[in-house]
Amino acid sequence: MNNKVLDCRQVGFESSLIRLPADVTEAQLLHRIDQLNRDKNIDGFIVQVPLPKHIDEDKIILAIDPLKDVDGFSPASVGRMCLGMPTFVSATPNGIMELLARYQVDTVGKHCVVVGRSNIVGTPMSILMSRNSNPGNATVTLVHSRTPNMAEICRSADILIVAIGKPNFINESMVKEGAVVIDVGITRVEDSSRASGFRLVGDVEFEAVKNKCSFITPVPGGVGPMTRAALLLNTLKAQAMHHQAD
Ligand code: NAP
Repeated sequence: MNNKVLDCRQVGFESSLIRLPADVTEAQLLHRIDQLNRDKNIDGFIVQVPLPKHIDEDKIILAIDPLKDVDGFSPASVGRMCLGMPTFVSATPNGIMELLARYQVDTVGKHCVVVGRSNIVGTPMSILMSRNSNPGNATVTLVHSRTPNMAEICRSADILIVAIGKPNFINESMVKEGAVVIDVGITRVEDSSRASGFRLVGDVEFEAVKNKCSFITPVPGGVGPMTRAALLLNTLKAQAMHHQAD
């Protein structure tokens, strides 16, 4: 069974998994989204990306009712997040903020380096860490594939958040002594010693870096479960909002 369906079951949410064929047309998918938007029995839904190439992902994200957008990908949700208004914050950055709060990581005035600028992880993460909030109030540098002096910038980070999808990219020499390291990356790497034939590898060389930093998230078992929990939190928020509006 799909992990998200299992997560919902575990916390007592009703959920459905709608599987559409890979050759579904954009119009058919938009029609399905319209039905979900109108269905009063549904508090929130996500459209699993990536989508087949013939479908315009932006068009699909725009079609989702922002009040049911528990992934937090819609322009309305992202805009509200940028302005510090209540909204659905996308699950991975939301989960990381929760993790920093739960472990009481001091972020105020710290230098936070975010590696990777995707719409769903790096960019919202950099905005959240720079906001006047707790966690937050950090001085943020966002780096990407066109950034020169990557290693030097990473070495200056008190908090290093890496989301690029390049296994073991960040090595010991790129991490400051005592830094907090959040590894978002998940890549399947072939491993014939496993029954599955693969293992999941993060963007950070965990074994080498763990002795140098003060906190580090493992892969798997770090940011992944926080992302799943944050999606459930967004769904709970959606339910509460709709309940209030009734
Ligand atoms: P994405 O959309 O592929 O974006 C990758 C980003 O990394 C881009 O901004 C890219 O820069 C940057 N990048 C690539 N190579 C780089 C390099 N050598 N130096 C500096 N920056 C580099 O990735 P994503 O969706 O954010 O996902 C990133 C990773 O996190 C993936 O492994 C994904 O599976 C994982 N992930 C995990 C979770 C979770 O729940 N744990 C959730 C989401 C994603 P440019 O913009 O310049 O191309």
